[in-house]
Amino acid sequence: MSLNRPIRPTCLQCSRMRPPIQTPTSFGKFTYRQSSSSPFSTAQANRRWPRLALTILGLTLPTSYFLFPSPPIMTPHMYSDQPVSSTQSISTQHKLITVPIPPSSKEFFERPYRPDGSIADAEGGEVVVQHMMIKSPDIQIERPYTPVNDGVEDGEVRMVVKRVRGGEVGRVVHNLKEGNKVGIRGPIPTFSIYPNEYDKIIMISTGTAITPFLQLLSKLPAPSTSSSSPKLHLIHSKPLQGREDWAATSTDKSFIPSLQAKFGSSLQVSRVEPGLVSRPVVENALRQEKKDVKERVLVLVCLPPMLMRPLCGSMLPNLDQGPVTGLLGELGLTNKEVWKLE
Ligand SMILES: Cc1cc2nc3c(=O)[nH]c(=O)nc-3n(C[C@H](O)[C@H](O)[C@H](O)COP(=O)(O)OP(=O)(O)OC[C@H]3O[C@@H](n4cnc5c(N)ncnc54)[C@H](O)[C@@H]3O)c2cc1C
Repeated sequence: MSLNRPIRPTCLQCSRMRPPIQTPTSFGKFTYRQSSSSPFSTAQANRRWPRLALTILGLTLPTSYFLFPSPPIMTPHMYSDQPVSSTQSISTQHKLITVPIPPSSKEFFERPYRPDGSIADAEGGEVVVQHMMIKSPDIQIERPYTPVNDGVEDGEVRMVVKRVRGGEVGRVVHNLKEGNKVGIRGPIPTFSIYPNEYDKIIMISTGTAITPFLQLLSKLPAPSTSSSSPKLHLIHSKPLQGREDWAATSTDKSFIPSLQAKFGSSLQVSRVEPGLVSRPVVENALRQEKKDVKERVLVLVCLPPMLMRPLCGSMLPNLDQGPVTGLLGELGLTNKEVWKLE
């Protein structure tokens, strides 16, 4: 997946991220006076209660700040320690972790950056798939993880993290318990598209590489009869024998069964055998429904290099797209129609 980072220095300091400035509360007609020795009257009591209220506020505000501190801002550029609200094992190798989005960080999700650092046209239908970076607290390494869900809708990011043998950040994440803090930064744009520019979007993945497609499908609106939404085709390989097929469970509303319920016949899901994606599967996905007009197709590919190379050619070492070769190249597709994800 592209690791283009939005270079927006304004982000760190920009005023839109600052919490609103609280204007001092006005006590209206009540003035702050020294108590007198005159007999207690209603008027005097009226004058005293603002002082009492101020005293109570003065005592409770600092206490509640320490007892219930609001989480720090989550930004693309700087790490912050955010509380993990839940962790769930969804297979022997995969954990689903949930990190709430602090209110001060919502704007990064609602008005996302494109990979080139400009602000995306969310109102115009542009959809940006984003990832987060998680770091190990002991040694300074970080790894990207793609939330499976729509952060704007849910107010949280949910990430499926695979633990690989000897994997450093995977180990850190798998040891997290509910309430622990995790060093995280983001969201960072992975890719962005205008879905309505296409008649058909084909997504090809294996393993946890399905996560950008689960997020994309979570962010796309459900098809409506009024607007022209693209046909969607998810081609995802089955897990190796004996491994849990977590994406096919109903554990999360961003997993395949819920997405199939959301999109109905607009989403076709093909589960293929592990390994190279075969020519008939690809040809079948590319088959045109309308014979007379050429369909506008986008093929998104998220596969490990050894499976990506024969399908569409590798990405370049600098993570540029590189030419479309392999099977998709043979079938006449070009860079306009294929997008490779690291
Ligand atoms: C943009 C982007 C988004 C990503 N999103 C996700 C995501 O949502 N969920 C997720 O789990 N991963 C995701 N990854 C992969 C993730 O960033 C890490 O590479 C992976 O978790 C391994 O990190 P680690 O520190 O645990 O292992 P490392 O210490 O980096 O690796 C330890 C060993 O495991 C090998 N290894 C690394 N990855 C795998 C693998 N997938 N299968 C088998 N062996 C492997 C390494 O080659 C190395 O030998 C994403 C990667 C990118 C670039």
